[in-house]
Amino acid sequence: LLKIEDLHHSFGEDEVLKGISLALNKGETKVIVGPSGTGKSTILNNIIRLVPPVSGKIYLEDVEITSTKKINQIRQQIGFVFQDFGLFNHLTAKGNVMIGLTKVKKMDKKEAEKIAMEELERVGIGGFADSYPSQLSGGQKQRVGIARALAMKPKLILFDEPTSSLDPELTGEVLTVMRNLAQEGMTMLIVTHEMGFARTVADELIFMEGGHIIEQGPPEKLFKNPEHKRTREFLFKLT
Ligand code: ATP
Ligand code: MG
Repeated sequence: LLKIEDLHHSFGEDEVLKGISLALNKGETKVIVGPSGTGKSTILNNIIRLVPPVSGKIYLEDVEITSTKKINQIRQQIGFVFQDFGLFNHLTAKGNVMIGLTKVKKMDKKEAEKIAMEELERVGIGGFADSYPSQLSGGQKQRVGIARALAMKPKLILFDEPTSSLDPELTGEVLTVMRNLAQEGMTMLIVTHEMGFARTVADELIFMEGGHIIEQGPPEKLFKNPEHKRTREFLFKLT
């Protein structure tokens, strides 16, 4: 579904991605872990072209998205959940989920509202549909963010540290939603520091450092029998 081939990215002189290749099949959940500043967010930002690609290719199905002129059409097919929620404060939870449907997909309001309610219920916050972001906890806000991504019926969802600004007790409720999505067969590429989640939910774990993928494979393999010393050091420093 998604294929990245030899992706390089530089900010000025500083090469932060030094040849990244990975593939994500339909229904798979892959989790990227690695130290801070390693280029994890830069990979996700390249996929939706928030930053201009330097070299390498990214495909969504058969479309080469690194060079397509129709990037807005591509972005509509990819959900994105950020660390800092990115909700509109002047809209209710329901309004935040509806806005992409009415503005981008030009759906009529009734239909958008129906979908918004379904997705809010799916992430367990149907009862907060009329609350504004300021009235919601961090975990609830992030679940609105996930409902908003889901409402667009994306082919895959990218998550960039979706729980790292949450208190530990709120982290669990967001991870539970993500775990359920993985079980339902959603295709997801997730950057997180939650090793327990990575270990139990990922079909494949990707360890990155210094702009390279050091190792990727089934999480149990990386945890129990990694090929690289750095993988072991990193995973065991954190667990
Ligand atoms: P973290 O775990 O802290 O989120 P990360 O692995 O997501 O880290 P990136 O955000 O991809 O790391 O950043 C990789 C490198 O690129 C870092 O050294 C960072 O300082 C640099 N960088 C990121 N964005 C920019 C930018 N817009 N301009 C210049 N340098 C940047
Ligand atoms: Mg990051």
